[in-house]
Amino acid sequence: MRGLVIKSTGSWYQIQDEQGKQYDCRIKGKFRTKGIKTTNPVAVGDWVNFELEADQNTGVITELEPRKNYIIRKSVNLSKQTQIIGANLDQAILVVTLASPPTSLGFIDRFLVTAEAYDIPAILVFNKLDLFSDEGLEILADYKAIYQNIGYPCYEVSAAQGTNLNQIIALLKDKVTLVSGHSGVGKSTLINNIVPNAALRTGHISDWSDKGKHTTTFAEMIELPFGGKLIDTPGIRELGIVDIEKQELSHFFPEMRAFLNKCRFNNCVHINEPGCLVLDAVAHGDIESSRYESYISMYNNDDNRS
Ligand code: GDP
Ligand code: ZN
Repeated sequence: MRGLVIKSTGSWYQIQDEQGKQYDCRIKGKFRTKGIKTTNPVAVGDWVNFELEADQNTGVITELEPRKNYIIRKSVNLSKQTQIIGANLDQAILVVTLASPPTSLGFIDRFLVTAEAYDIPAILVFNKLDLFSDEGLEILADYKAIYQNIGYPCYEVSAAQGTNLNQIIALLKDKVTLVSGHSGVGKSTLINNIVPNAALRTGHISDWSDKGKHTTTFAEMIELPFGGKLIDTPGIRELGIVDIEKQELSHFFPEMRAFLNKCRFNNCVHINEPGCLVLDAVAHGDIESSRYESYISMYNNDDNRS
């Protein structure tokens, strides 16, 4: 049987077959993702083949279909485990706020670099529009300009008041979209206002507590009533940065990529080399200084995840 993974915990995978019927499955055998070692070899968004067990309700995943793409999360704790948090994505949304709580530009930039590294179009949604004074709205416009100028679509919404949610619905329609955001930015409010019965979507999960200790949901897929799917990542507030070669880091900053192989030195990493066009562009304000600071921070492996 063929199905789509719509939810995963450490050891169980919820699979939906092509008729919409759902099964709880385990994995048999080894599935490897080339180049990385992951704690969950199969992820939400994966298409798999599975076989039903004798009880006809649970199953075993026997085959993983090739992925269009995937995105990982590297945990920042000591175990340094890597999880795949979503596969076969059309786009990734980061919900951010400028206040209560403020999302740092460094955090936004790390998210964007991760999305670039995995070739997933990234979009920023600035939430809590209703909290802004006129002055706040000007700051918001400045922030949006930073990201729109380098090609990232930006939206401003009030999830609580429903402002501009029609734009988000248009964005999500018929796509598979990963949604991330720091705790408190209003991601749940946004999802619940777009999919009104999203709170009921986890009907299955209570059964899962008897199926082993690792019942933390990494990610789950929500069917959109107007077409398309969301991948929500409840326990995951950050993507964590992937292992990117320092020499390649600037390739994942679109505004720096424009200078690829144009600096005086071919192997310029835009730190302090003479004849560096990126440094010139930063000095002239053509590259935003906050973006360049994020680059330096990531280049130096600073753990600037706040
Ligand atoms: P999550 O942690 O990102 O899922 O955030 P929640 O959806 O739980 O929201 C966190 C807090 O922000 C809650 O108190 C929400 O009521 C509030 N909130 C969410 N969206 C908005 C908004 O658009 N405007 C305002 N003023 N508050 C919001
Ligand atoms: Zn350079």
